[in-house]
Amino acid sequence: MRLKDKVALITGGSSGIGRETSLLFAQEGASVVVVDLNDDAGAKVVDEITAAGGKAVYAHADVSKAADCENMVKVAEQTYGKLNIMFNNAGISHADDDNAMTTEESVWDLTMAINVKGVFLGCKFGIPALLRAGGGSIINTASFVAILGAATPQLAYTASKGAVLSMTRELAMIHARQNIRVNALCPGPLRTELLMKYLNTEEKKQRRLVHIPMGRFGEAKEIAYGALYLASDEASFVTGTEFMVDGGITAAYVTPE
Ligand code: NAD
Repeated sequence: MRLKDKVALITGGSSGIGRETSLLFAQEGASVVVVDLNDDAGAKVVDEITAAGGKAVYAHADVSKAADCENMVKVAEQTYGKLNIMFNNAGISHADDDNAMTTEESVWDLTMAINVKGVFLGCKFGIPALLRAGGGSIINTASFVAILGAATPQLAYTASKGAVLSMTRELAMIHARQNIRVNALCPGPLRTELLMKYLNTEEKKQRRLVHIPMGRFGEAKEIAYGALYLASDEASFVTGTEFMVDGGITAAYVTPE
């Protein structure tokens, strides 16, 4: 087991990447704190883990709220005695996020509050717990859009993921000698709820697919395996990276036919 005796907190754990990562980490021996706003789906993830003989608990938190983030870390330490792995993964992609002229200020603010401040708050309260545990691994979910621009704009989302990437690098530097590794995980376009809601016509799907060298959307499970590597001691010399799991999209100039 690759995460034996580790305690992991996963935000956005009720769905998509967070759900698959919760299941995988538990299967690899971790005790998992599943954090989300969607309590029913979160409870189902916990049930699935415990039914398979794993350990998990659910904590409700809005990652854009400091008190909630403080509490989710408390749940980890009170339930399992420590925290070793912090996966700041919760994020939104707002339906009305568009270009600079059309995006409402409220859409910008909400996106930044969850996608950027949520990662900051996870670190604010998670890092002291990791230090109490003697170190650990932080993984922040960014995106391929932190690296590449797209002509189908989601300006607030793209800016938020750029912020996650640069915040991750700086955190990695600050804590490099404290046995805390901090890495950004950059998924390519995935066949999850978040993206399929946005690419809601065949034409929009094809427009994105044409840029992916592998010619298909990724699966949340494929991102979970990337997170597993970064969380595990196998990645003990890996910090400050932008870890791409993207079907080759960021390497492409011209994609194969
Ligand atoms: P998803 O919508 O399936 O899951 C996101 C989860 O986060 C949901 O369960 C939701 O309830 C939760 N959440 C939303 N706001 C929250 C908040 N304020 N506090 C706590 N939980 C909250 O999406 P996903 O595809 O699994 O996305 C996970 C992460 O991956 C996000 O950060 C997203 O930006 C990123 N990402 C996704 C893709 C993609 O193509 N799906 C690509 C690159 C990056």
